[in-house]
Amino acid sequence: MAKNVIAILNQKGGVGKTTTAINLAAYLAKAGKKVLLVDIDPQGNTTSGLGLDKKALGATLYDVLFSRAAVHSAIQKAGGGKISLIPSDSNLAAAEVELVPVEHREYQLRAVLADLDYDYIFIDCPPSLGLLSINALVAASDVLIPVQTEFYAMEGLGQLLATIQQVKQALNPPLNLLGVVLTMYDKRTSLSDQVKSELVNHFGDKVFETVIPRNVRLAEAPSFGKPIADHDKWSKGARAYKALAKELERRIT
Ligand code: ADP
Ligand code: MG
Repeated sequence: MAKNVIAILNQKGGVGKTTTAINLAAYLAKAGKKVLLVDIDPQGNTTSGLGLDKKALGATLYDVLFSRAAVHSAIQKAGGGKISLIPSDSNLAAAEVELVPVEHREYQLRAVLADLDYDYIFIDCPPSLGLLSINALVAASDVLIPVQTEFYAMEGLGQLLATIQQVKQALNPPLNLLGVVLTMYDKRTSLSDQVKSELVNHFGDKVFETVIPRNVRLAEAPSFGKPIADHDKWSKGARAYKALAKELERRIT
């Protein structure tokens, strides 16, 4: 089993899960770590965001979850060869239903990842708390929650924490809440400060000191199939994710 298996989860869409997964993976890989990204979202944004053509994938996570392909046959190289990726496409949507009758259905991803040897595995979750996300939480040692800096930031977090707690109690006792990361932060607005202090009130030092600013370079990087480090490494977004990767390493060891 890999040392650190980090599920990046928030059941809201568009909060920065995929951006965070890709760029943490990229910066840790650049720092010399052995890193695997697992795309467990049927939207496959991590897959396309790293430049893979979803129409020409070969074996995907879906095949691996149902033992139709060996995990090693599904792992592809991305990010200039430094990152390993298990890709996904829309076929994975069926897994949410097809897993239901499977024995030990919550443990399928855990079994897939069990024999892999990486310093870090990041699991980019779909925007739901269904069976795919539960599989991610059961496979994970840690969970990281990106929270978009917006008026409704706190909404849904109670349900998310309850789900994490249930998985911890029933399925994966060592699961650790690694922290909460503020994304799309705009320091010019007082709303950003409000959201941050509200989060700190609830989560204390689980809130990462590093915040990810709203930055157009981050938004355009996926269209070039690149992590921000290879798109514009001097952008604010790049520097923030580099700092976040360092803070994550500090917190995890
Ligand atoms: P999720 O995976 O939670 O759905 P994404 O990472 O895909 O969220 O982000 C949603 C959208 O916002 C994407 O178009 C992405 O490129 C953009 N985005 C993410 N983070 C930032 C940011 N810090 N600044 C600007 N745009 C961002
Ligand atoms: Mg996503």
